[in-house]
Amino acid sequence: MNKTGITRKVDNLGRVVIPKTYRDKLQIKENDTININMEDQILTMTKVEDSCLFCGSKKDLITFENKLICNKCSNKFLAKVLIK
Ligand SMILES: [Zn+2]
Repeated sequence: MNKTGITRKVDNLGRVVIPKTYRDKLQIKENDTININMEDQILTMTKVEDSCLFCGSKKDLITFENKLICNKCSNKFLAKVLIK
């Protein structure tokens, strides 16, 4: 088994602190979303980048009903609604 890396204890609620060195390297800030995945008994954590719900774009994002939508998709949606 690979024993490199930083060792941390799990607290009574199952929480583990991501070491600051890794948070800094990956630019993980408070309230960022992390995806946790398990495969073959190995957990991986990946930072979820903010992106448009429809096209995945990371540019010109606006929040609507707690979801991120880019300006382009928002305009497409508005055009469709206004044409009806
Ligand atoms: Zn979009």
